[in-house]
Amino acid sequence: MDTIDALLGNNQVFAANLAERHLDVEPQRHLAIVTCMDSRLDVFAALGLGPGEAHVLRNAGGIITDDVIRSLAISQRRLGTREVMLIHHTDCGMQKITDDGFRMELQETTGVSPSFAIESFKDVEADVRQSILRVRRSPFLPHRDVVRGFVYDVDSHRLREVEATEQ
Ligand SMILES: [Zn+2]
Repeated sequence: MDTIDALLGNNQVFAANLAERHLDVEPQRHLAIVTCMDSRLDVFAALGLGPGEAHVLRNAGGIITDDVIRSLAISQRRLGTREVMLIHHTDCGMQKITDDGFRMELQETTGVSPSFAIESFKDVEADVRQSILRVRRSPFLPHRDVVRGFVYDVDSHRLREVEATEQ
């Protein structure tokens, strides 16, 4: 049995033990979180969030890509979120590659040069500041007053806020 089959079994137990309910599609806390896909960061547990409370957008690095802006635009314009929380973390896989190296690896092994940016980083705090700026400067987002960035320590489980360099 592969991992997905095991998870399907878990879902049957999960659903059997939970009363049927319908939550509103709009997140109750009017919050969107952008973070890394890292498997050690349990966003809901770390922040005390439950289902129906916030949007959580994840990708490699928690990078503010065009697709993240797309999701944030829908989140704010159609689903009522007003605050954006950005969470990077210590020991991120994106710190272990370089843009040029990974791009070359993809091109050499597949023959295709990717159209997307790799967006690796060395300095996690600098990348959080860059992410805050990208959100604050996006013309597609109506709510840019509350955009805060953090680094999550995967060992201590604590969040540290990163001050933005400019508004
Ligand atoms: Zn990461």
